[in-house]
Amino acid sequence: MKPVIEVSALHKTYGSGETEVHALRGVDLAVWPGEYLAIMGASGSGKSTLLNVLGCLDVPTRGTYKLDGIDVGDLNERQLSLVRNRKIGFVFQSYNLVPRTSAMSNVELPLVYAGVGRKERRERAMAALEMVGLVDRAGHKPNQLSGGQQQRVALARALVTGPAMVLADEPTGNLDSESTDEVLAVFDRLNRIGRTIVMITHEDHVAGRAARMVRVSDGQIVEDTSQWRRTGALT
Ligand code: ADP
Ligand code: MG
Repeated sequence: MKPVIEVSALHKTYGSGETEVHALRGVDLAVWPGEYLAIMGASGSGKSTLLNVLGCLDVPTRGTYKLDGIDVGDLNERQLSLVRNRKIGFVFQSYNLVPRTSAMSNVELPLVYAGVGRKERRERAMAALEMVGLVDRAGHKPNQLSGGQQQRVALARALVTGPAMVLADEPTGNLDSESTDEVLAVFDRLNRIGRTIVMITHEDHVAGRAARMVRVSDGQIVEDTSQWRRTGALT
């Protein structure tokens, strides 16, 4: 078995000179298939920067990132966008749904970009909506859905391409406790069927759902509840 995510000596510096910010300062991390990992840490510690690099939304200044065994640093823009579309599902705190467009069409969107035909798109989008328990809301527009339901649509959109992993940046940050429970139940279900999940949260009870917790401070990993996995001792 090989890690889904393998980063080593990862650095990310924003700006230069006076305004230089070292957002990541030497991060080593391996995430194995089927793991559910929570990333915690104070505001400004580098969590989103790390997740954006893992999601190929940002490139590191130094260090390597292997995704499913592929060195992401070797890929050109076109290959990167393929990787983003096929291997990664991203969920943000703000749901980022297309307004005035049905839940179904929102979920279909990544498949449109992937060039999947209409009939298959419908089937796969419906299956993804079923996974998040929203088949009966397929025709609803975002403004006709609660926050928790909108986030579940966003999660269905992240899942519809069958990604190797789902990355989530404070997905319950805008939600009340009931909606938080609904969304976390979907993540639990996903993990039970073997999906790899990396989720940023600053709430202990949210992080408690994950089997493993990594704490980031000042651009470095300062705690990892399963150190032994990082050395590959399991394999
Ligand atoms: P967190 O998600 O843990 O709150 P971030 O990863 O967003 O932290 O930010 C880490 C540090 O990098 C912060 O000091 C932040 O101000 C800085 N930073 C993040 N993004 C940028 C950017 N695009 N340009 C400049 N500085 C940035
Ligand atoms: Mg953040």
